[in-house]
Amino acid sequence: MSDIPFLNLSPMHEAIKTEMRGAFEQVYANNWFILGKELEAFEQKYASFNQTKYAIGVSNGLDALTLSLKALGVGPGDEVIVPSHTYIASVLAISYLGAVPVFVEPRMETYNIDPEKISSAVSKQTKAIMPVHLYGHACEMKSIIDIAERYALKVVEDNAQAHGASFNGKLTGAWGHINGTSFYPGKNLGALGDGGAVTTDDSILAEKISTLRNYGSKEKYYNDVIGYNMRLDELQAAFLRVKLNYIAKWTTERKQIASKYNQALDGIGEIVLPQVADGADHVYHLYVIRTRERDKLQEYLRTKGIGCLIHYPIPPHLQKAYKHLGYQKGDFPIAEELAETCLSLPMWPGIEEMQIEYIVNTIKSYFSVQR
Ligand SMILES: *Cc1c(COP(=O)(O)O)cnc(C)c1O
Repeated sequence: MSDIPFLNLSPMHEAIKTEMRGAFEQVYANNWFILGKELEAFEQKYASFNQTKYAIGVSNGLDALTLSLKALGVGPGDEVIVPSHTYIASVLAISYLGAVPVFVEPRMETYNIDPEKISSAVSKQTKAIMPVHLYGHACEMKSIIDIAERYALKVVEDNAQAHGASFNGKLTGAWGHINGTSFYPGKNLGALGDGGAVTTDDSILAEKISTLRNYGSKEKYYNDVIGYNMRLDELQAAFLRVKLNYIAKWTTERKQIASKYNQALDGIGEIVLPQVADGADHVYHLYVIRTRERDKLQEYLRTKGIGCLIHYPIPPHLQKAYKHLGYQKGDFPIAEELAETCLSLPMWPGIEEMQIEYIVNTIKSYFSVQR
């Protein structure tokens, strides 16, 4: 068996090569590269896919979250509630605006923010809650929205890992007042470079994002606010429009792969398999198991040619960048435990049956040989 990387985009990209070349040819022939027809067409298509009134293409996921918070008026001194177990970008967006991230622990079983712990983190300064649908698993959005309404807070979903997931049948990225997503190449819907989008049903917020992403200008050379250059370009929009036609198929495939892993790994060693919360849908951006022997298992798999990654090895509150917040080890024990025990197995649409078998058998052999 040749080496199995952690991620291989080539089966997806091989299958759509002709269409992707067509998209390139179209943009090349248009000779229009920023804020044009391709972007408009993708925005409409993505809004319709995500069942929101508006989708605004932006430069990347981090900028999508930053612009969303900015459009809500989040600024210096405000607090934003964010899970203690997430990718750093969720937290960076809050910091960019001079606001303070207030961490809330995830549930150990779901890896997502624990709604029961949100209320006690709310203060007079709290402006918004940012649930993150980590690994593609939808957060318990009904409870989160209820809490937000009780305290009159805004909700900004970080939907970077969960295109097409849902909770109680309603899509992630459609629950919050305004939401950000990423089209980083390795995401479930990935561009051939950086990209992102903001989704919302609110026409005023949508307009603010359109203005902010383009120098704060609605009409060329008239600047209403101090904006940014945070646009999604025509080429990426054209590529993404092609790929959006396949996301449903790819998601189905991800779920099938997860179910194969679930069956084959059930009861092996003391591995904890990914759980799906009641009412939640999981689109398996990542397939994440947990074990106290994580480091040894990862090393063993590496020697057998299997690439696995840790999402994420250091929780935000323990990052050097956030030293000034004054947290210590032990402050968010669940996030810390997850960081020490989680392991993401190879997962991509097009991974072969034999590769899954080899991964599973290698994990089995680790647990039988080592004990
Ligand atoms: C990828 C990611 C982001 C940031 O997206 P970029 O496009 O890389 O800026 C934000 N939040 C989460 C949870 C992510 O996985």
